[in-house]
Amino acid sequence: MNKIDGNYVGLQEKLKIDCEKCSALCCVALFCSRTDGFPANKDAGIPCKHIKNDFRCDIHSKLVSKKMRGCLAYDCFGAGQKVTQLYPFGVDWKSNPNQADEIFQVFMIVFQLHQMEWYLIEALSLAVDEHLKSDIMELISQDEQMTAQRPDEILRLDVDSYRQNVNQTLKKVSEEITTSHSGCVKDFFGKDFKRANLDGRDFSMSLMIAANLEGCSLRHASFLGADMRDANIKNTDLSQCAFLTQMQINSAKGNGNTKLPQNLLLPDSWKELGA
Ligand code: SF4
Ligand code: SF4
Repeated sequence: MNKIDGNYVGLQEKLKIDCEKCSALCCVALFCSRTDGFPANKDAGIPCKHIKNDFRCDIHSKLVSKKMRGCLAYDCFGAGQKVTQLYPFGVDWKSNPNQADEIFQVFMIVFQLHQMEWYLIEALSLAVDEHLKSDIMELISQDEQMTAQRPDEILRLDVDSYRQNVNQTLKKVSEEITTSHSGCVKDFFGKDFKRANLDGRDFSMSLMIAANLEGCSLRHASFLGADMRDANIKNTDLSQCAFLTQMQINSAKGNGNTKLPQNLLLPDSWKELGA
């Protein structure tokens, strides 16, 4: 795969979560359900009962033992700390309940923009065609400009139009790097791929829930938007896969022998797990 310019590596670093600099936005703004691995069912906008006064989680060290898979898997692409810091110090959903809904809406928009930027930066490292690269750089620049705006301006953005352009561009990159394109959602729920050679396969938007990918060869396979919950990626080399996100990895089942692309982290709870 191509190397990307250091500036873009820096941009991608900004899209990593920093919960210490956030006011627990995901733990309030999002709908949560017990079946998805959260402590309780709750509506969007209602704070989780485990948020402490300093916005930390009072069961953080027990999330693994309590099997809170939803909490462990969630990744906001850095939207939480970004939005927390868009507001003056001391202005947050708890101290300013009248502004809470606005803060949550801005968070949801910035989350989408950061997610698209994450994909675009990866696309830039993969694209071969120079025109396509230039389109990607333009879209990244637009994304940066949008998220640099004030909260009231962010609320007025036309994110849908931007998303259409991003999707078209990502599709072109995915087609450039993979060798099989079906163009429709594929259902591989629970499928056992049995150490298959899946090099160049396009799993974009596929349902990979509980699929067994252990030991498969996955060079240049694309997982753009695939649902990876409980997919078995133990002892599997995903280092050359395209469009994987931290949330997909966190929701899958790996171990200390799972190899990931450079921009993703092995979940702590996997590190002691061997074959
Ligand atoms: S919104 Fe993001 S940064 Fe904030 S607590 Fe959640 S994951 Fe962490
Ligand atoms: S348990 Fe902790 S991490 Fe999970 S939603 Fe509640 S506060 Fe957030």
